[in-house]
Amino acid sequence: MPRPIQAHINLGALEQNLWFARRKAPCTRIMAVIKANGYGHGLSRVAEALSAADGFAVLDILDAVQLRELGFRQTILLLEGAFTAEDMALVAQYNLVCTIHSEWQLALLDSYPGRENLDIWLKINNGMNRLGFTPPQATAMLEQLRRHPAVREITLMTHFANADEARGIAEPLALFNDFASAFHVPRSLANSAALLRYPQSHGDWVRPGIMLYGASPFAETSAQQLGLKPAMTLSSRIIAVQNLRAGDELGYGALFRADHDMKIGIVACGYADGYPRHALSGTPLLVDGQPSRTLGRVSMDMLYADLSRLPGAGVGSSVTLWGEGLPIEAVAGAAGTVGYELMCALAARVPVLT
Ligand SMILES: *Cc1c(COP(=O)(O)O)cnc(C)c1O
Repeated sequence: MPRPIQAHINLGALEQNLWFARRKAPCTRIMAVIKANGYGHGLSRVAEALSAADGFAVLDILDAVQLRELGFRQTILLLEGAFTAEDMALVAQYNLVCTIHSEWQLALLDSYPGRENLDIWLKINNGMNRLGFTPPQATAMLEQLRRHPAVREITLMTHFANADEARGIAEPLALFNDFASAFHVPRSLANSAALLRYPQSHGDWVRPGIMLYGASPFAETSAQQLGLKPAMTLSSRIIAVQNLRAGDELGYGALFRADHDMKIGIVACGYADGYPRHALSGTPLLVDGQPSRTLGRVSMDMLYADLSRLPGAGVGSSVTLWGEGLPIEAVAGAAGTVGYELMCALAARVPVLT
């Protein structure tokens, strides 16, 4: 039999989550964020399932090119903009939209081969201090861009640092609105968390990512509570069973020691598949649909499942690592990370089924 690990991508769930976003932001265009290989779900597969979106946001210009060559006609935004003059040639050839977040990118505009048909998203730094111009800097930049012979439409974009946190967006939203109200240009502010929680941030374009994949952007609210459906399910099988006696130890570093007799399943899934090595002993998983837990340290190709309370489980039993029936957030929490990172880290060696 082939190694039993697989990732199942539920295309219907992607589609459903997009419609859910539409219902939440009914008057706004949707820029589906499909960077990082569609958050690990596969770029072209995700674009196909989300083809009702008004736009796609990616990081890598070659992803944008691929989407055009596959026939997608939507707006395609480069979230970090162009890096080189060669990029600007591709931007023109493939009709892409550039973010401008730094002074140095202005010089690239001069290498743009077209005239009056370049659409720009100007990034405003509202206090997150990652990319973009503060409002005073942005005023000068906007004037320059408006005068630039290549530029057609300018959209103002900002990104929130705390839309998913208790602190919320009040301050940065006010800062952005104060600035943007002086200009009659489209605006884009909201990631998934802001889309779900702050209708006042919807503007002209929302930019959902994580929610489209059916995971929650919030620590304290699950995807299911929000009404989202997980798109990725990572599963495998038990390929061996070990019967431990009290005092026996498990795996690298002997991180787990049995204090009574136990049955252990060896699961064909490890960190080389994208399962987090930092997942603690006790991270939830499902064996034949029943809740159980990992034990000991995750290794490159395998991990340990506690079968003590599952007398029927054994070699061949199915194991769900995350997804349908097991929120990715629960696994991420036990590994000190977020569902985003786990999805993106799904390894290329894992076969994907749809
Ligand atoms: C990744 C990203 C998003 C999507 O964020 P989610 O939390 O996944 O919804 C939106 N905007 C920008 C600028 C991003 O980089």
